[in-house]
Amino acid sequence: LPNQDNNVCRLALDIGGTLTKLVYFSRHEDCSTDVSKHCLAEKLWKSNGKQRYPISGGKLHFVKFETVKLNECLNFISSKQLHIGGRSTHSCQSGDSGDNVVVIKATGGGAHKFADIFQESFGISLDKEEEMDCLVNGANFLLKSIHHEAFTHMEGRKEFVQIDQNNLFPYLLVNIGSGVSMIKVIGEGNFQRVSGIHVGGGTCLALGKLLTKCKSFDELLELSQHGDNKKVDMLVGDIYGMDYSKIGLSKSAIASSFAKSVTENKELSEYRPEDLSSSILLMHSYLIGLIASWVARFYGLKQIYFGGFFIRGHPFIMDSISFAVNFCSKGQVQAMFLRHDGFLGALEANFYFHT
Ligand code: ADP
Repeated sequence: LPNQDNNVCRLALDIGGTLTKLVYFSRHEDCSTDVSKHCLAEKLWKSNGKQRYPISGGKLHFVKFETVKLNECLNFISSKQLHIGGRSTHSCQSGDSGDNVVVIKATGGGAHKFADIFQESFGISLDKEEEMDCLVNGANFLLKSIHHEAFTHMEGRKEFVQIDQNNLFPYLLVNIGSGVSMIKVIGEGNFQRVSGIHVGGGTCLALGKLLTKCKSFDELLELSQHGDNKKVDMLVGDIYGMDYSKIGLSKSAIASSFAKSVTENKELSEYRPEDLSSSILLMHSYLIGLIASWVARFYGLKQIYFGGFFIRGHPFIMDSISFAVNFCSKGQVQAMFLRHDGFLGALEANFYFHT
């Protein structure tokens, strides 16, 4: 890489409402860490405007922190000395001291909200990149460059999708973070945020914590695996006593999430946390899948790629979203998922080092 020290760990952040995602590139083994979740050990690419050229001999590391525990993120950066080296520093322009200022690429709302904390605690200056640009460019990069990045997931079956580069666009990118953004991607650098909903991963996690007393998203997921939403949701069969075949609804279809409690008059404590968590996750996955499907059809899009940390490669969530998309579009729209689903923004911000 021109102008880059071999020891440099290139670092970028996506500071969201719930999670802070950190992506860094290292050439040296020393820079690797036990908390990295994935490594793109395959070929790496560097960005030069809209073109990317393959490079080799390094790793991208993916790490996340809760945004409320930003200190942990700062300590991690500091302990790994990720902010030190090569192009991550430049001469201070504003003062007359001429001191070096550490600059980190950052995106997400927290890049604005927490800029002062980074500056005051560590003297780190955040160089902000636009969030939607980062999401879309990150998705495009993964879809174009990384083998086996996209896959479908239906009824427990995962199938990798062979991306036809000539047919990649247009598609709908649905990013499920704290809230949900729906972006129509028309081409490289050409996109429009066409919709969004305020019921997202944040809502799901909050309701899960309030209703089941679980402490984390992982616990909510774990609980749901042993739960049965039918103990909580009102089904078509609860209302009709049978299928409502005239409009194509089976008796096991959910007529109203959580509504069994309306007729049963039970206290919250009488419901199992496992069943509640299953209902909560289904409600959000179906709702987001259904709305995404409608948005895709409205804009004449046949492919939806889902990203955001809500997905987390979790089979139950992906199956539910796929079911909703398939059901609503009568098989006309395909739901696809990304292996690096939660890191689109941070990944792209990392590449901006070279633009
Ligand atoms: P944001 O950028 O708004 O923080 P993310 O894409 O990081 O959004 O997704 C955050 C959502 O991911 C949470 O609201 C929650 O539903 C889900 N999630 C998955 N894993 C975790 C986790 N370990 N901690 C908190 N939330 C998690």
